[in-house]
Amino acid sequence: MTAAGPLVLLVEDNEQNRYLATFLLEAKGYRVVSASDGAQAIDVARAIVPDLVLLDIQLPTMDGYAVARALRALDQLARTPIIAVTSYAMVGDRERALEAGCNGYLEKPIDPETFVQDIERIRAEFLRGGSPP
Ligand code: MN
Repeated sequence: MTAAGPLVLLVEDNEQNRYLATFLLEAKGYRVVSASDGAQAIDVARAIVPDLVLLDIQLPTMDGYAVARALRALDQLARTPIIAVTSYAMVGDRERALEAGCNGYLEKPIDPETFVQDIERIRAEFLRGGSPP
């Protein structure tokens, strides 16, 4: 028996993207809890203290940058990497995500061949880096 896989908080308002990301992550042994908006994401994050947050940037009400800043303000998430997932293709988005407290950045559309691998690379870099941003 192996230990339970890493716990992921998936913040995504699009049902199809949520379904695909959950499918790919669960296939690799991750446990996935989803939230579809920022306020819900913050509540869930406090409750479950995830090992990783996947954060859509284009969300209703509160955008992903604001969510990232709110999550970074939580002491219990100091050891949790936040990965922005966005279809924005504008110059400066990566910098904006990193400034907001994200530790990495993935572009949509999700590539099923590389999605989990890319997440694992960013998480490993974060854990090696030691201190939170
Ligand atoms: Mn969205």
